[in-house]
Amino acid sequence: MPKLQAELVRLKQAHLYRSRRISDSATGVCVHIDGQKRLSFCSNDYLGLANHPVVVKAMQAGAARWGVGSGASHLVNGHTSAHHALEEELAAFTGRPRALLFSTGYMANMGVIAALCGRGDYVFEDRLNHASLLDGGLLSQARMQRFAHADASALAEKLTKQDNSEKLVVTDGVFSMDGDIAPLPALAATSKQHNAWLMVDDAHGFGVLGKNGGGCVEQFALGIDDVPILIGTLGKAFGTFGAFVAGSEELIEYLIQKARPYIYTTALPAAVAEASRASLTLLQTEHWRREKLQALIKQFRRGAAELGLELMASETPIQPLLIGDNHKAMSMRQKLQQQGILISAIRPPTVPDGTARLRVTFSAEHTEDNVNHLLAALEQSL
Ligand SMILES: *Cc1c(COP(=O)(O)O)cnc(C)c1O
Repeated sequence: MPKLQAELVRLKQAHLYRSRRISDSATGVCVHIDGQKRLSFCSNDYLGLANHPVVVKAMQAGAARWGVGSGASHLVNGHTSAHHALEEELAAFTGRPRALLFSTGYMANMGVIAALCGRGDYVFEDRLNHASLLDGGLLSQARMQRFAHADASALAEKLTKQDNSEKLVVTDGVFSMDGDIAPLPALAATSKQHNAWLMVDDAHGFGVLGKNGGGCVEQFALGIDDVPILIGTLGKAFGTFGAFVAGSEELIEYLIQKARPYIYTTALPAAVAEASRASLTLLQTEHWRREKLQALIKQFRRGAAELGLELMASETPIQPLLIGDNHKAMSMRQKLQQQGILISAIRPPTVPDGTARLRVTFSAEHTEDNVNHLLAALEQSL
């Protein structure tokens, strides 16, 4: 098809072409990639649990106990007592009556929004929401409206106009490309005032925010009345794979009946559920990982400000440096790479036009020296 080639050429010319690097090492801060050793600042393994020996052992033991494949969907016979125990532990962790595992966060978001909303309903989404939340809105066939980023009064204005319809408000907890935190208390109050449900996807907040790693809702002390639909993913700070929805008994039972990406897919391997159970324990008890992250973030922000780099308003391990131009972002990435540093350059359509950025992320496995190395390399790459 000639249109494929034309589009590939256009992407290359616009510095928007995407390609994969081949890694030869386990997840961690020191990686071997495309044949080179590099210090990585682009993983979402914020707590350094993806290659933690206890988590690895739990998965190995899980594979020995349960086999590798789960063999069927949850509703056929893929739902083991390992999955079930993880769901109960996630419910206790989030302080919600029930939790439901999904194979990925992408599928959880598609499944939940499309199960809860349909034609004639309204879905309100923050303008910077993750792609999976936007795709969930599209799949639902509800009328979708985007509100100004992190702006509860802009949301209120839109909600007021639809006072007689069923409404779902959807937001990231921590925004994945900006690192800022949604104003959840204001969004929760506004949603309640207008009889709208609030759904928060805290993929980047769990493990990182809150005294016990309970994410945004723990940090703001928001209960199920404030945030009735809470999404978490297991592939980021948990260091494993999968996702969950936490909420009321009724919500979870409804999703089991109606969420197509839940029903029509193979259950994730029970061994992965066992690994997630191990990482959930570490995540809740090893507070030093969150404290270490905060120290690294402060060190980086101080150093980057001294270099005159444009930081974003983020207190999370996602610390993007705003560059603007796609080509400039790619060339800085290249210069950093030559100095042994791996960082991803994020370009449109993942972020709005003209806001290309270097997305720096930190892990509890980084050291103070690693951050100094990064700052020195950034200085050389300007
Ligand atoms: C990564 C991410 C997802 C997708 O989760 P996966 O388990 O990787 O599919 C969903 N929402 C947000 C905000 C994310 O950052």
